Amino acid sequence: MQMEDQYLFIDGESVAAADGTTFDNHNPATGATICRVAYAGEADVARAVAAARKAQPAWAQLSGTERGRILRRAAELLRERTDEMARLESLDTGRPIQETPEADVGSGADCLEYFGSLAASIQGEYQDLGGAFYYTRREPLGVCAGIGAWNYPLQIACWKAAPALACGNALVFKPAELTPLTALRLAEILREAGLPDGLFNVVQGYADTGQALTAHPDIAKVSLTGEAGTGRAVMADAAATLKQVTMELGGKSPLIIFADADLDEAVSAAMMANFYSQGEICTNGTRVFVDQDIRDRFLERLRERTARLRLGDPLDAATEVGPLISPEHMQVVLDYIDRGRSEGAELLCGGERATDGELAAGSFVYPTIFSDCRDDMTIVREEIFGPVMSVLEFADEDEVIERANATRYGLAAGVFTRDLARGHRVAAAIEAGVCWINNYNVTPIEMPFGGVKLSGIGRENGTAAVDYYSQRKSVYVELTGVDCPYD
Ligand code: NDP
Repeated sequence: MQMEDQYLFIDGESVAAADGTTFDNHNPATGATICRVAYAGEADVARAVAAARKAQPAWAQLSGTERGRILRRAAELLRERTDEMARLESLDTGRPIQETPEADVGSGADCLEYFGSLAASIQGEYQDLGGAFYYTRREPLGVCAGIGAWNYPLQIACWKAAPALACGNALVFKPAELTPLTALRLAEILREAGLPDGLFNVVQGYADTGQALTAHPDIAKVSLTGEAGTGRAVMADAAATLKQVTMELGGKSPLIIFADADLDEAVSAAMMANFYSQGEICTNGTRVFVDQDIRDRFLERLRERTARLRLGDPLDAATEVGPLISPEHMQVVLDYIDRGRSEGAELLCGGERATDGELAAGSFVYPTIFSDCRDDMTIVREEIFGPVMSVLEFADEDEVIERANATRYGLAAGVFTRDLARGHRVAAAIEAGVCWINNYNVTPIEMPFGGVKLSGIGRENGTAAVDYYSQRKSVYVELTGVDCPYD
């Protein structure tokens, strides 16, 4: 499917890049070109920031109720366009159409609705001091920049836009260059919902577009979703102008399955935590620790169900596993699989590229399970971001907690057990920003989300997000006069 050229969205309008540069966007299932996309340079970023800066003060003057109404209307409009948006997301990311209506469009709409409802309740506090009092004003930061990863482009755009706008900020958003399509539709939707021009801008491009945003002196804050290495680079650039940052970065999360767990549920969770979205999810539980007493039964069921997963065209409703995002990324994943083999892990299933029929044109890799893994193997230590699961055995609770925490990352974790006291104990002991007990990868918009260690700084979602898109101004009011020590 060849689409018309895609533009930038600046100050309420679709515009070409100032110097006319474009890049091509490809379909990961076929390798074909989907469309040409305008490539924003420094001049375009400057234009978007200027438009945002101009529009933001009037937006901040509106009441939270008025701002919230527009976001809630945008949620309705997004839901009305579910089919179109889900198809675009599947086309662009390669993620199966089974997933995108709920996981992307539904989740994005929930976010707009949630922060649209919360906007009216964003408030400061008051305290009596005896002869004086203070109150705090919750003020917006100004113009914020959002920089997104390619795996969940629409969801990431909503997770940044909704809280930023609810708090009275303007946002300039850069999607990953591999997935430029849906952020532009979100801009149209916000405009149709009544968002004044200049408050949500989209600048498409590569890393240099993101760098221009981070460097811009009129940007107050950068919220990045990406790899830890990119996080480091963006923080270093942001330091030059002392910008605030929120960092949603990668992970190598543990999923711990105790012997008393419901085995079928645990197998389902392990599959979802590794093969949903072809494994291209930051929170994935790629280190599956299984109690040695249930190891054989667990592996047998896991292999049998994984072998049945259907690879195919992401736009086919029967497809369960789509292509990886690009040929380059597929090669990275295949190289990791080779390392797993050469370092002595036991390949249980998958382990290669899928090339049957039409799959040969895309970047398809069979869902892969390695058993008999050791903690020091490359596949167990590094984020792969593909459908590759490492299964490790453990003997007791203290041991598995120590091994689960022996990673530089700290995004998420999962615990499967019928012993709830143990579930809470393990959740408390794990070094991660999110921990699920008897489920995995569930991210309701009400729940704060983010990582510790190399997995990030700050939180998105829930009321916690308000802290990252607003600042408190303290106002002290004297009631009894200045107590002056001088004559
Ligand atoms: P990258 O870090 O490569 O890119 C993320 C974004 O940053 C892209 O828009 C990219 O542009 C841009 N970028 C790259 N370098 C710079 C720079 N120096 N300055 C400013 N912007 C820059 O991540 P991926 O897109 O490859 O996404 C996968 C990663 O994202 C994984 O590590 C995954 O775990 C993580 N992730 C984390 C999530 C979380 O919430 N914790 C959620 C989803 C993914 P471009 O791509 O156009 O070059």
